[in-house]
Amino acid sequence: MRMYDIILKKRNKETLSTEEINFFVKGVTDSSIPDYQISAFLMAIYFSGLDNRETTDLTLAMAQSGDTVDLSSLSGITVDKHSTGGVGDKTTLIVAPIVASLGGVIAKMSGRGLGHTGGTVDKLESIKGFKTELSKEQFFDTVNNIGICVAGQSGNLAPADKKLYALRDVTATVDNIPLIASSIMSKKLAAGSQKIVLDVKTGSGAFMDSLEKSRLLAHKMVEIGNNANRQTVALITNMDIPLGNAVGNSLEVVEAVNTLNGNGPDDLLTVCTELSACMLSLVKGTTVEQCRDDVLKAIENKSALNKFIEMVEAQGGDSACIKDVTLFEKAKYVCDITSPYDGYISKMDTKEIGICAMILGAGRETKAQKIDHSAGIYIHKKTGDLVKKGEKLATLYTNDESKADIAQKRYLSSITFDNTQPPKPVYIYEIIK
Ligand code: URA
Repeated sequence: MRMYDIILKKRNKETLSTEEINFFVKGVTDSSIPDYQISAFLMAIYFSGLDNRETTDLTLAMAQSGDTVDLSSLSGITVDKHSTGGVGDKTTLIVAPIVASLGGVIAKMSGRGLGHTGGTVDKLESIKGFKTELSKEQFFDTVNNIGICVAGQSGNLAPADKKLYALRDVTATVDNIPLIASSIMSKKLAAGSQKIVLDVKTGSGAFMDSLEKSRLLAHKMVEIGNNANRQTVALITNMDIPLGNAVGNSLEVVEAVNTLNGNGPDDLLTVCTELSACMLSLVKGTTVEQCRDDVLKAIENKSALNKFIEMVEAQGGDSACIKDVTLFEKAKYVCDITSPYDGYISKMDTKEIGICAMILGAGRETKAQKIDHSAGIYIHKKTGDLVKKGEKLATLYTNDESKADIAQKRYLSSITFDNTQPPKPVYIYEIIK
């Protein structure tokens, strides 16, 4: 087989065989195919597409290109959740303990934040002592003992995807549905859970800014998961507005704990309830409606919060700050942004708000950058809210005073005001089974 012929075939819009796709992924993994041919092939896919069978083949080959996590020794049904990323997305911190408290097994690997989106590992590391780098034994022991563990990615999961993603990044081939779907799903399949719930974010703070593209991506990923014998469900959720009110690591942990205590903001609670109910429904084989009731009870009777505390303690974290969130370290500089107008907030550029949090120290522009766990933004007013001139829109937190001014200007220019009230935002657009 020759890579030249495979590129030509795809350039001419022909369908590739499983063997040809496997040949390509093997060549990417062992570096026998040069970067210029890989790049040319990615561009051919970009213009000619991949059908469902080809996309599943690509995903499976990438999932098998490195280590795969075998969770079969765990008793119970393992269920994973993946978000395509957004601003203020702390759902894993809430959903994982809810589902574990109701009998789902959570053996989850999460990532760090990059650019305007946050990452679960960074959020968890804002809890003093919390360890996300665990040995395989520690990871399995924790799940066996308490039914939940959320750790950083270890091992060499889907190395072919890692290389392809780096090349896509520099060849303008990132925004292609089959390539995105296979990239995300290869890592989910390699991570081993039997059931998967995907939170596909849509809007100005998301990777996919239109509902139409998000729907295509969600359908593609559900199809891949089901083809790979992992029952998969996707929710399409709103990321045109930050989720909840807190953006930034320890601020988000506090909001997650408040939500587990029954005091969460409406949008965050709604999305977390639905994600948890969908996960539980896959685990138990009961209806989402039944599971929704169980989820709300687990919040009400504090069993989900107690499961979170158990996880924090099992992973070396100081649970005192979960029991009393005022113990989280505070940023040195706190400044309020006030409204320059009377009127309704009609739009928030959510990516810009994520970038403001990053400027304040909550995120990193490059992988090597250190983050400031106490930095971030607390949003007081969101899209649809009526504000008066001089009223507080948001509070900024940082340890680097020099960053506050630019973040404040960018935050204000990310908000659009109007005299008429915009329609009430939708939190969940669709559920795809
Ligand atoms: N996230 C991924 O893991 N892969 C993509 O292609 C896009 C987003």
